This record gives sequence, C-alpha cells and structure tokens, in this order.
Amino acid sequence: MTDSPSFADHLVAWQKTAGRHDLPWQNTRDPYRVWLSEIMLQQTQVTTVIPYYQRFLARFPDIQALAAAPVETVMEHWAGLGYYARARNLHRCAREVVAHHSGRFPASAAGLEELPGIGRSTAAAVAAFAFGERAAILDGNVKRVLCRYFAIDGFPGTAAVHRQLWQLAESLLPQRDIEAYTQGLMDLGAGTCTRSRPACERCPLTAGCQARQQGRQATLPTARPRPAIPERTATFVLLRDGARLLLERRPPVGLWGGLLVPPEGAVDAVLARLGLRARDCRSLPPLRHSFTHFRLTLEPVLCDVEAAPRLAEPGCEWVALEQAATAGVPTPIRKLLISFINQSSTRRRSADSAVARQAKATK
Ligand code: SF4
Repeated sequence: MTDSPSFADHLVAWQKTAGRHDLPWQNTRDPYRVWLSEIMLQQTQVTTVIPYYQRFLARFPDIQALAAAPVETVMEHWAGLGYYARARNLHRCAREVVAHHSGRFPASAAGLEELPGIGRSTAAAVAAFAFGERAAILDGNVKRVLCRYFAIDGFPGTAAVHRQLWQLAESLLPQRDIEAYTQGLMDLGAGTCTRSRPACERCPLTAGCQARQQGRQATLPTARPRPAIPERTATFVLLRDGARLLLERRPPVGLWGGLLVPPEGAVDAVLARLGLRARDCRSLPPLRHSFTHFRLTLEPVLCDVEAAPRLAEPGCEWVALEQAATAGVPTPIRKLLISFINQSSTRRRSADSAVARQAKATK
C-alpha cells in the first residue's frame, strides 16, 4: 500500500487520455441511468449491453416508468441478457425507490446498498458516477487487477483474500477524480489487464505491477481450488479353480456396465452369494486407478475354490486364466489380472526350477 498515490494517479491520467468516454451511460449523473447500466453490466460485456440499455431506456425512460410497468414487460425487455434475477430485482428496486424514497435514489453508497439487487460494489459505482462519492468498487475485473498488481496469492473467493482486496480497494481511492479512477479500473480490467492476455506493455500500472515483475500474470489471480477427488475402495475376489477364473457380468447401468469383472464384495459375502467354498484365500497387492471424478483402489483377494463348483448365479462364467485379461474386462481389471497372471507364472517358474534343482541334487 506504499504506492497507493501512484496507483491512482497513473490510472486517472491514463483513463483521461486512453479510457472510454463515449459509452451510452457515460456523461450523465442521472442515478437512474447509471444504476441501470451498472446492473446490466454485471457479468455481461459492454457490447452486449449497449443495445439492451438503449431499448430499455426507450421503453422505461425513468424510474417512475419502470416502477409502473408490470414485471412481465420488464422481463420481456431483459430477455436474452441473462441472469434474470437482475431484472426482477431491478423492478423491485424501482418500486421501492418510488414508494419509499419519493422516486429519488439515496445519494450515498450506504443508502444504495440497502436497495434490492444492489451489492456493495454496484452501490459504490453508482455513488461514484452519480454523486461523486469516494467509494471503492470490487468486481471481478478489479479483483484481477489488484491480485496481479500486488501479487496477492490465494483464491479471491476465500473470505481472507476477499477482505484483503476490499481493504486494498479502499486504501487506493484517490482524493479527487473518483469518476475517472473508477472508470479507469473498469476500463483497465475490461480491455488491458484481461484474464488470458494482459497487455502489460501498454498498461499504465506496469512500472509498479508485481505480477509483471515476477512474471506471474498467468497464475494470478489464484484459480479456484479444485475439490478433492473422492477416494473409493473395492474388493474383488479372484475365484480360482485350477487354471480357471470366475468372472461376473456387471449390470448394464453403472460403473463398467455390461463388462466382465471378478465378483466384487467381501470374500464371505461373495462366496455365500455364489454358493462356493474356498480352500485358501489371500490378499494380493492393491491397484489404484483414477477416474474423472474419483480414485478407486482395487483390493484383490485370491481364493482357491473347492472342486467341482456349480454356478447357479446368472451372468457368471469360468474363464481360462490366460484369457481372462482379454475377456471384455474394463482397463483397471485388465491391469489387475495381468499383474496377477504374471506373478502366478513367475511363482510357477520359480517353483519348477526349485523342483528341478532338488531333483538334480538327489540324483
Ligand atoms: S502490468 Fe500487466 S498484469 Fe499488471 S496490471 Fe497491468 S496489464 Fe495487469
């Protein structure tokens, strides 16, 4: 905050020479027009707003006309501009100003903020442009400029960063030229310090901008943190009958719908469901697989079943071990089966060579 004066000075000087001066809602102090434009410009680009603003004003030239109109007519004139709660609040606000303020907007940011649909930043913008009040705005564009200029880390949506940005926005306000300053912030955010390609070489703040000095324009403001990916665990029972493995077809809907997988669930429950008995069960190394919305840890358990199993369960089939990995199974199951088959063959080879060595030794 040490260079607050220069921040505002640079911005005001730049706005006066290079900023926008001919937008349809500029060059007026009529609070109705200023307010209407500020509401329309929320989340919406200037070029989109201009024709709506002009048509709206032609139909509702003042706050009395807007308050007197049915809400349906207001909605018709807003149709296509999006975020329709704005239009409903606009109408409610007009009626409140007419009914409780004699048709005159309160002449302060604090008073404006009490009205329907007017938040802190919009109240400040209207107060600055209509009444010349020194009030700080902080919309998405201004947040971006401040985060970059002061190299503020942390997602601006978090309470702490949000508070810090409001404090900065207020500390930077110039003693005069509040209109040019406020417009300058808007102009800079919309056309120079843009989200993806900030034009630092022609920015009036370039000398003091920390993001520019640190080469961090692309990573500031900090992006919204990604939600943690949920972790899930599933047990798959590899039921082995000699050289065969039991696979079960999944229901058509849901994860791996219609594909073959080893039966899923706790060992006892799987054996009971399939009417099988196991001689021996042991856990195998787990395998992790990432899906778009979650991570799955597959925990395989190998069970050698007792001889001559007869399956009453529909959708189950015994598959030759060496064909199991290519029998229409999903990718993670294929990886799991390949790993299991490779380990089995390694173990078999080691056992064979141990037997061979022992046979040689006893000769
Ligand atoms: S110098 Fe670049 S990053 Fe910094 S405020 Fe200006 S346009 Fe934005």
